[in-house]
Amino acid sequence: MRENFKIKSGSLVVGDIDTLDLVDRFGTPLYVTDERIIREKIDRFKKAFPFADILYAAKANWNLSILRIMARENLGSDVFSDGELYMALLAGINREKILFNGNSKTSEELSMAIKSGVKISLDSEDELFTLAKVMEEDKDTGGFSKGAKKAEVFFRVNPGISVDTHPKIATGLIKSKFGIPTDKIVDAYKKTLEFDDIVPVGIHSHIGSQILDISPYKETMERLMDIVGKLEEIGVDIKYVDIGGGLGIPYNAEEEKKAPNPEKLASLIMPIFEDGCNELGIRPRLILEPGRYLVGDSTILLTRVNAVKDAYKKFVAVDAGFNVLIRPAMYGSYHEMAVANKMNGVTKETYTIVGPICESGDILGEDRLLPVVEKGDIIAIFNAGAYGFSMSSQYNGRKRPAEVLVNGDKVDLIRDRETYSDIYGNMVIPPRLL
Ligand SMILES: *Cc1c(COP(=O)(O)O)cnc(C)c1O
Repeated sequence: MRENFKIKSGSLVVGDIDTLDLVDRFGTPLYVTDERIIREKIDRFKKAFPFADILYAAKANWNLSILRIMARENLGSDVFSDGELYMALLAGINREKILFNGNSKTSEELSMAIKSGVKISLDSEDELFTLAKVMEEDKDTGGFSKGAKKAEVFFRVNPGISVDTHPKIATGLIKSKFGIPTDKIVDAYKKTLEFDDIVPVGIHSHIGSQILDISPYKETMERLMDIVGKLEEIGVDIKYVDIGGGLGIPYNAEEEKKAPNPEKLASLIMPIFEDGCNELGIRPRLILEPGRYLVGDSTILLTRVNAVKDAYKKFVAVDAGFNVLIRPAMYGSYHEMAVANKMNGVTKETYTIVGPICESGDILGEDRLLPVVEKGDIIAIFNAGAYGFSMSSQYNGRKRPAEVLVNGDKVDLIRDRETYSDIYGNMVIPPRLL
């Protein structure tokens, strides 16, 4: 929220740094992250769940420096692809605390997961069989046997639970593509017993993202513990119970009132978890996978106004579009905005803020009350830290923006702005076209 940031002489400040200085130095569009906010969120999460493993969901923001912060805070990571696994390892995240998730993993990805010694969450029985085959092959080539380790696996269960969020980010619905239905999950674990070198150690679920009403987590925890009980009966010893991520953050004033926090989540699920464990006489570790909650409100996107046009509506055309921040176009998400160089300006006009992309849907914000906007002004878009840069693209031949990290009075570039060679660098012209 904008309350995270200060105002000095009418301009927006991140940490102790004037955003206008950042724009002068690094250009626009520019992602600016306040490290202190991330550290505070991590702290709060750790305090609410002192005995759990916190696996940061890399896909929310996998800039290497952000992952490095997570590594230094001793967090693990939920990764969803070979690229995210590569980045998490590069950042120095403890491999013991990396879980390779995903509903459609390739043999190569599974092989990479085993060789790096991370845990794997399987999403189907087919994936279990692919894993078994990959392990057999890797043994033949001597690759895996050197590590002489077994594969530790989870299954992702689809608990069939609906949450009050955007349908595109509800992942625990009965009709969702993720996970194995509750009535088939025990059978999936039984299949692992055929393989000596595949050891089921955990159960995983993730019911959705941007969850503001956290009550469905209660039911999810109940179902998880119910399944853990059934698994113990067939001799599967569960060491990890992973309830996933999804804790929402407020994107507007309305949501601010009902926004959940880690403490509330803890008081909702911990009693069920602990009672369940006591009843079964087991001591598994709880795992949580927050993404958005840790990074979402730490980051502002700064974008420059190229034109103001009085047409059907008053349009403000800026230099960032859905190529830079896709959430408004993809989910109809609301992102609070301000004019970074007119923070004390009186709001008196209603504007629709649009990007430079050749699509009518390239709208960042509709009917926003702002001070009078002029060409050259800098618009600040708040809460851009999660699923912002990480979902960006080069559509329309646009170079991706730079990212900077602020900590108090320190400013560091954590990603260079792309150049033309980043756009064409992977392309090849066949000789017959030369
Ligand atoms: C995306 C994802 C998360 C993180 O979700 P947030 O809403 O960002 O907290 C956690 N676990 C899994 C498996 C995911 O796919």
